[in-house]
Amino acid sequence: MDCKICNNKTLDILELESIYYYCPKCNLIFIDEISILDSIEEKSRYEEHENGHENQGYVRMFEIFIKQVIEPYISKTGLVLDFGCGPGPVLGALLKERDFTVDQYDPYFFPERVFEGKKYDLITSTEVFEHLKEPLQEMNKLYEHLKKDAYLAIMTSFHPGIDDFADWWYKRDPTHITFYNSNTFKEIARKYSLEIVFEDGDKYCLFKKR
Ligand SMILES: [Zn+2]
Repeated sequence: MDCKICNNKTLDILELESIYYYCPKCNLIFIDEISILDSIEEKSRYEEHENGHENQGYVRMFEIFIKQVIEPYISKTGLVLDFGCGPGPVLGALLKERDFTVDQYDPYFFPERVFEGKKYDLITSTEVFEHLKEPLQEMNKLYEHLKKDAYLAIMTSFHPGIDDFADWWYKRDPTHITFYNSNTFKEIARKYSLEIVFEDGDKYCLFKKR
């Protein structure tokens, strides 16, 4: 199987309930096609998530994201696309409170393609990349809709490496199918004209379009 990011030959990780492929070059891990849920099943899994404002932990998660990834690097407000915002667009509301203008898109919950013909100062994509079956297809789309010098802020849990992958909690959600680490994001930056402004090796990566 070829890596979905860098086309290098992957290795199989076989001792698990599903087959995963690991790229020794960029460290992407992705699940075998056969284990990917169909979109109806996937949507019903998302609806089980408690993503509304009533969930305090969820709001707090985004407050921390804004404090660590947005505020230190992005000083002026502008037009934001929250790509894959989910059923209760909490991050968008928090960014609006900070005077950003926010467009929301989610293939299941806000399917209108509001980003067509527009370019953004900031695109946020939180808890989305782990769900992507074809990450480069989505990256092409996001890249195209960034202005020059604009930012792409990603939140996803970085995988712990193949030795600790078997016991890693994050992969137990059957909608989580693709996993990254710092090397994978470096490879993505190389493929596009992107600079990594900040990444913490754990959850966050902030790219800037050159
Ligand atoms: Zn790779």
